[in-house]
Amino acid sequence: MYRNDYGLSDELKMFQDTIRKFVKNEILPVEHKLDPDAIEFPKEEIERLREKTRAMGMYQPAAPVEFGGAGLDFFANTLFMEEVSKHRQGLYNAGGGVFGYAVNPILYMGTEEQKEKYLKPCIRGEMRGCFAITEPSGGSDPARAIRTRARKTDRGWVLNGSKTWISFANQAKFVTVFVRTDDGPIGTRGEITCFIVESGTPGYTISSPIPVIRPEAPYELIFEDCLVPEAQMLGRQGGGFELLTSLLTQNRIPYAAQCVGIAQEALEMAIAYSKIRETFGKPLSDRQAIQWMLADSALEIHAARLVVYNAARCRAENKPFRIESSMAKLMASEVALNVVDRAIQIHGGMGLSKELPLERWYRELRTRRIGEGPSEVHRMVISRELLS
Ligand SMILES: Cc1cc2nc3c(=O)[nH]c(=O)nc-3n(C[C@H](O)[C@H](O)[C@H](O)COP(=O)(O)OP(=O)(O)OC[C@H]3O[C@@H](n4cnc5c(N)ncnc54)[C@H](O)[C@@H]3O)c2cc1C
Repeated sequence: MYRNDYGLSDELKMFQDTIRKFVKNEILPVEHKLDPDAIEFPKEEIERLREKTRAMGMYQPAAPVEFGGAGLDFFANTLFMEEVSKHRQGLYNAGGGVFGYAVNPILYMGTEEQKEKYLKPCIRGEMRGCFAITEPSGGSDPARAIRTRARKTDRGWVLNGSKTWISFANQAKFVTVFVRTDDGPIGTRGEITCFIVESGTPGYTISSPIPVIRPEAPYELIFEDCLVPEAQMLGRQGGGFELLTSLLTQNRIPYAAQCVGIAQEALEMAIAYSKIRETFGKPLSDRQAIQWMLADSALEIHAARLVVYNAARCRAENKPFRIESSMAKLMASEVALNVVDRAIQIHGGMGLSKELPLERWYRELRTRRIGEGPSEVHRMVISRELLS
């Protein structure tokens, strides 16, 4: 295998190695016993393994220490996401949830009360939230597509409208929902504000799951005269668009790192299989057609990793990173799908079997060219910068 240390310190390499071993020794044995399309680890296994991640000082790696996390910097957390995703559920449920779930946006904008009520229990693993931007009218251009409105009354804000394709809504104790707080016409850029709405609030309902290509189905959320107290506003009135763009821009980097991790794993599976599988009297690895697939995959992964690490370093060093984040998300999601596709091809029928994780990664990766901004939107963001 080619060598490149990507400028990582010895400490970061040891850290990567620790996470790699944890996935191999602790995550994979649990996952092997589950249904191939399972979307969660059994609760008792999560609790058992959380004891270990806590003892390692690695529980909630991205959360600040004062909130009970490990306080990893952004770059180290990107490396973490790449390694911890290298298993069947890894794209959807990195590490099986045993390192905790992604840190809630309340961390960045929440009041002390909101942090106490929602953020800390999320970090402790006692509850989880979901994040709702997309509406039936569209997700690529939320500034214009958001039609759900919040109207101010003496008792608080009254929400009406709906959200769609919302992941984890069934498990979430609350949703951070982005709505319009102005009276402007539909289809125009409006004043967007974020609210925290608890499950069970009168007027807030969650639909049945919407079946999609990946095992975990998202949900529709409906708000009908749903009264939300002023104290549930996250950030300032009209600050929602800034909040959602800064969160999405930042979150695309670990999202891209997960794609790189899966692509690397798929390549290694393809290399190993090509050496043991024989056709026409020779191992597949002796065929140039196969060698070229492996070479293209290695090349693309290497390039994607450099782009992702560059974006993560820019973010960690407080440099501008919007274009870098779009490049990382765009490239890593497309490369990973290509690499997994080639790995399936090299495995033949086995590649499509549920005995291996490849077919599941393929389906999950297909959603990644649309989720967190479709590829076309990222190309638009990059080209706007080039042409400006
Ligand atoms: C499984 C799944 C889980 C999801 N989870 C969540 C969630 O938790 N929370 C949430 O808020 N949303 C979630 N989403 C929604 C997701 O973010 C949106 O699907 C995505 O932003 C695209 O929006 P859209 O589907 O409305 O497509 P549209 O905005 O209607 O776009 C359709 C297509 O048009 C093309 N396109 C759009 N704009 C341009 C352009 N400027 N130039 C060229 N082509 C363009 C792209 O190919 C795009 O795929 C999820 C979606 C899925 C499928």
